[in-house]
Amino acid sequence: MIIKKSPAEIEAMKEAGRVSAKVLREVGARVRPGVSTLELDQFAEQLIRLEGGIPAFKGYGGFPGSICASVNEQIVHGIPSAAVVLQEGDIISIDTGAIVDGWVGDNAWTYAVGRISPEKQRLLDVTEKCMWAGLDAARPGNHLGDIGHAVQSIAEAEGFGVVREYVGHGIGRDMHEDPNVPNFGHRHAGVKLEAGMVLAIEPMINLGTYKTRQMPDGWLVCTRDGQPSAHFEKTVAITEDGPLILTTEEGYRRPVS
Ligand code: MG
Repeated sequence: MIIKKSPAEIEAMKEAGRVSAKVLREVGARVRPGVSTLELDQFAEQLIRLEGGIPAFKGYGGFPGSICASVNEQIVHGIPSAAVVLQEGDIISIDTGAIVDGWVGDNAWTYAVGRISPEKQRLLDVTEKCMWAGLDAARPGNHLGDIGHAVQSIAEAEGFGVVREYVGHGIGRDMHEDPNVPNFGHRHAGVKLEAGMVLAIEPMINLGTYKTRQMPDGWLVCTRDGQPSAHFEKTVAITEDGPLILTTEEGYRRPVS
């Protein structure tokens, strides 16, 4: 069941979105060779709590971290670890979210660690472009398939693989609500989008095959062929005026009391 949000509820979700966006940006600023993904995770948790939030990921289904940190061929759900130390040339997807006043924000970005190959840079550029195209399709009157189609057509025109098994999602008081938001699909297909729906749109795009491999820890998902993968995500509210991105720091600062 899709739980639509009233304008007041969407307004209330902005703070969780702001905190999620700030934490993602600040963690991204700490991505460099020599830093471990556990250090990034600890920083993220501290900042979420300092901002008055609760880490949305920590304890979710037993996940131990406040971020998912997925390096190179890792697609999503990497568990932060002291043993994973970033190296020049890596790319890392950081996915993080905060709960504020019972509302959840969720966002992700893939960062370059120092200088990366032109091939990896192209993967990042295209995946980000896919995300923006998906967000732009989040409008009343469109269908879920329009979002997936927008993402898929851009990625596949570049010869990249679109992950099938992992998708975006509705979001609100729960991190994962209906509907599923695939990054593939057909125009005008699927659920009709309406004002009040809030979605996390998150393309996961692979340089090679779209096929995935679930790793033995039960969380980490890698590309089947070992080639790199990128992941970008924002939480967006569908409004009569079009897509309203909630995971942003712009203009939604809570007044100091
Ligand atoms: Mg998500």
